[in-house]
Amino acid sequence: EDLLRPASSRYVRVNTVKTTVEDAVDYLKRDGFSYLGQASRLEDLTLKEKYFVMDMHLPELLVFPPNTDFHDHFLYKAGHIILQDKASCLPAYLLNPPAGAHIIDACAAPGNKTSHLAAIMKNKGKLFAFDLDAKRLSTMATLLLRSGVTCHQLANQDFLKVDPDSPQFKDVEYVLLDPSCSGSGMVCLRDDASSADQEKVKARLAALACFQLRCLNHGLKFPRLKRLVYSTCSIHSQETRESLVNLLSQWPERGLEPLTQCLRANPAKTRTHGFFVALLEKHNGAGRKKQ
Ligand code: SAM
Repeated sequence: EDLLRPASSRYVRVNTVKTTVEDAVDYLKRDGFSYLGQASRLEDLTLKEKYFVMDMHLPELLVFPPNTDFHDHFLYKAGHIILQDKASCLPAYLLNPPAGAHIIDACAAPGNKTSHLAAIMKNKGKLFAFDLDAKRLSTMATLLLRSGVTCHQLANQDFLKVDPDSPQFKDVEYVLLDPSCSGSGMVCLRDDASSADQEKVKARLAALACFQLRCLNHGLKFPRLKRLVYSTCSIHSQETRESLVNLLSQWPERGLEPLTQCLRANPAKTRTHGFFVALLEKHNGAGRKKQ
């Protein structure tokens, strides 16, 4: 089984709202871990024992051997580090909102990407976060508190019913869209497709793809929108959507033709969970794109 599903590395995102990468690395070294510097190729992420590296793409990401457990670690409990797979760090990193920006995180709970966005925008600006699920939102509120994030406004609301023309969203230039998906990219959730009821799986995927497209169309309606990142932790092509921006040219796994500007991720090729990310960009910022 290990050959078919290589274990993803343990990725740790340093929460720069509360600390710096340098301080986190120093703390971990004093705690018995050995730091090997920044990785330069995928093989450098294959680690054993107490060794760790800085990721070659995302400098706020530290990489440890699979199964390194930080749940009881001081840095985790204090919100200085977030346990977040590399693939799940790509959307906020690629959206890259500046400090002070107004942003919508459309399907936000439990909020790892929200706290990553807040760190990138230096906890300055407005981060409107929506989710339909009240329980997940309350977990999210706790996690954001622990992460020291204060620039957010949570709403237990259907994103499809949020009015893009409401005055409170008039300065929204960035949208992160991470809608519910099949979860097929989660290493631990992947089904054995051959034993699944194919028709049921197909119907579920079609319904999800329809919901995802509605979310995408809705996200594009915000009048001042500049950039929208769309992501799913799915590897089914039916669930993935078009992109306008060519992302990370050195990233090895691309979207399927004709979506080669987009990124895909999987355990074997990128040592991450399965994922799809697309970035849509409007260049003049004026006017609403006709859907
Ligand atoms: N972005 C989150 C993160 O990084 O922690 C993960 C989001 S998860 C893939 C998708 C979320 O979308 C779920 O929490 C679900 O409750 C929420 N959701 C589903 N339908 C929604 C809707 N119509 N409006 C807002 N949120 C919705």
